[in-house]
Amino acid sequence: MLIIFKAEHTEDEVEKVRERVLAAGCEAHIVRGLYRVTINVLGDDSKLDPEEFKSYNGVVDVIAVMNPYQLVSRDFHKDDTEIRVKDVVFGPGHFVIMAGPCAVESEEQTLRIARAVRKAGANVLRGGAYKPRSSPYNFQGMGDEGLKILKRASVETGMPIITEALDSRSLEQVYKYADIIQIGTRNMQNFSLLKEVGKLDKPVLLKRGMSATIDEWLMAAEYVMAGGNTKILLCERGIRSFDSRHTRNVVDLSAVPVVKALSHLPVVIDPSHGTGRRDSVSPMSLASVAVGASAVLIDVHDDAQRALCDGAQAITPVDFEQIVSGIRKVASALDKKIEAPR
Ligand code: PEP
Ligand code: MN
Repeated sequence: MLIIFKAEHTEDEVEKVRERVLAAGCEAHIVRGLYRVTINVLGDDSKLDPEEFKSYNGVVDVIAVMNPYQLVSRDFHKDDTEIRVKDVVFGPGHFVIMAGPCAVESEEQTLRIARAVRKAGANVLRGGAYKPRSSPYNFQGMGDEGLKILKRASVETGMPIITEALDSRSLEQVYKYADIIQIGTRNMQNFSLLKEVGKLDKPVLLKRGMSATIDEWLMAAEYVMAGGNTKILLCERGIRSFDSRHTRNVVDLSAVPVVKALSHLPVVIDPSHGTGRRDSVSPMSLASVAVGASAVLIDVHDDAQRALCDGAQAITPVDFEQIVSGIRKVASALDKKIEAPR
C-alpha cells in the first residue's frame, strides 16, 4: 500500500500514519520526493483498510498495491481449481453444459425438458424453484415442490441439479436437493447469505451482480471462501449497459480472461440471461468455449411462448442440440473435454 501526503502536510501528520502502520505489524518506508512525501507500507497489509488512511489529516490518496481479495486470488492458489460434481468436472481441460428451464413450472414440463437436454448432451440440469422476479406479480416459482420435481428429473436422467437459493429459508431447502447452489445476480452482495453458503459443503455458483465490478464480484466470492467453502463457480451473466432496446444485458466475455488471470476459480457464462435474446445464445455459447470459460448455463424451453419466466431468451431443445454440436467442435479444436451423456 502506498500512502501519499498532501504537499502541505506536517511532520506530525506523517508520524501519526507511520505509528498506525507499525501498530499493524508492517514496516513504514518514508520516501521524501521533490514534490510529495509517501509512505510505502511493507509486509502483510491485508488487515489494513486503505479507506482508513484517507481519513487521516495530511493524506491526499492511498493506492492499494495488492488486490483486496486473497483466498480467491492466484497469489494464494496458483493453479486452476477443479470442482467435481458427481462425475462432472469444472476445470482445466473440461467444458460443462448446464441446461434446463429458467423455472420449474410443472413436473411434466421439467421432465420433458430434462430428457430433451440430456439427450442433446447436457451434463447438469438447471431450473429455478425459487425465482427472484423483478415484479411481485410475476410467477415466483414452485418453491419446495419445484425442488422435488427437479430431484425426480435428476434421478431419471442422471444429471446433477443446479438451482437458486434466494434467502436463508430457501437455502435450507435448496441444500437438501441441489448439487450446485446458485446465488443469483441480485444476491451477489447479500453478504449474510454469502456467509451462510460459505459454511456449506456443496459447490456454489456465484453470479456476477448486474452492475458489479470484477473486484466486487471477487470480493463476494471471498466472502464464501472465507467461510470455508472453496467450491465456487464464478458466473458472468451479463451486465447492464446503455442499449437496453436491443439487448437485455451485455454478456461480458472480456471479463473471462481478466478474472482467470486474477483468480484460480472456474468461470461460467450464462449466455441466456447474459443477452436476454434467443438468437444470441448460440454465438455467445460458442464464444464462451473460445474465451476460456469452463461451462455454460443455458435456458431451454419447448414452449417458450407459454414459459412462465424469461421466454424471450429460451431456446428450443432442437436449437440446443445444434449449440451442443457447435460447442463440441470448438471444444475439440481447443482440446477441451466434454462429458459424454450416459
Ligand atoms: C436464473 O438463472 O434463473 C436467474 C434468475 O439468473 P440471474 O440471477 O442471472 O438473473
Ligand atoms: Mn431467468
